[in-house]
Amino acid sequence: MSNRPKITVIGAGNVGATTAHWLAVMELGDIQLVDVLEGIPQGKALDLMESMPVAGADVAITGSNDYGPTAGSDIVILTAGLARKPGMSRDDLMAANTKIVQSCAEQIARYSPDAYVIVVSNPLDVMTYVTMRVTGFPPERVMGMAGILDTARYRTFLAMELGVSVEDVQAMVLGGHGDSMVPLKSCTSVGGIPVAQLIHPNRLDQIIQRTRDGGIEIVNFLKTGSAYYAPGAAAAQMAEAIVRDKKRVVPAAAYCRGEYGLDDVYVGVPVILGAGGVEKILKLELSAEELAALRASADSVKKNVAKLALQPVA
Ligand code: NAD
Repeated sequence: MSNRPKITVIGAGNVGATTAHWLAVMELGDIQLVDVLEGIPQGKALDLMESMPVAGADVAITGSNDYGPTAGSDIVILTAGLARKPGMSRDDLMAANTKIVQSCAEQIARYSPDAYVIVVSNPLDVMTYVTMRVTGFPPERVMGMAGILDTARYRTFLAMELGVSVEDVQAMVLGGHGDSMVPLKSCTSVGGIPVAQLIHPNRLDQIIQRTRDGGIEIVNFLKTGSAYYAPGAAAAQMAEAIVRDKKRVVPAAAYCRGEYGLDDVYVGVPVILGAGGVEKILKLELSAEELAALRASADSVKKNVAKLALQPVA
């Protein structure tokens, strides 16, 4: 028996398998892949396991179509669901993915009642809310991955623009995962230098727009699905923050209870992520424009949640 943390990844598709790969290489724990497709989680798990001697990482990776082997997971990463194709918005996935996420959340509650859950399925903020309601878990144990990805895209574009290391670009992107994301100009710096001193405001607006469209830019290239390398890396970073109690300051979809004037809604806000999950939502000074954008973003998430008839587990 291993004493390593146990991490379940539900959905062994592009994002799920890529997340598992990052988790394994980072040696964060033993990994269980689950999918409805027969053979896919088993085959991908074995293939990943066979890469561990080369990676030099000692973790077990197994796959299954049932939840028995997931029992007692410390962390569950939920990636099951349809991905976008060209011409689709994330909200177009809502009906199909609500059913899928609801069924997965019931299994998480049944088999891993103490788990921390990182939701990746889209539309992200709504699916995270569904997961919290269906599992009945406390909100600090249920969070959504979007902000780290959106911020990573923004940092990539800024580094490309300036020809500097991505490591030196710091930024924070809040709001919903979609057209309503809110990159904070006041929190964007390069080697500690405020971005306004390095990039003309008009050019920065173009980079922000490219960040908002970052998902669809990849969908239009791939045509058969959406991004997965950066999303997998971002989901694994959230798991690492919890497993290693890193107290990372990152944006995540977190349950707001009054913060920023938002209530009973999941939306991207800055959080401290550690062994207690979402340990704190940080309250930043936002400009009137940023605050209005964050609230509009939360309103659209709320409207979508209101369309669902959620059934909490008995
Ligand atoms: P994919 O089609 O490659 O994989 C999805 C997998 O889910 C498939 O293997 C499918 O069989 C499985 N699945 C379906 N129903 C299931 C169920 N009930 N139980 C277990 N598994 C089930 O798609 P992908 O590219 O991996 O994307 C997965 C999800 O992640 C999509 O909803 C996508 O929109 C979302 N996504 C979110 C972000 C983000 O930033 N939050 C980024 C990328 C993708």
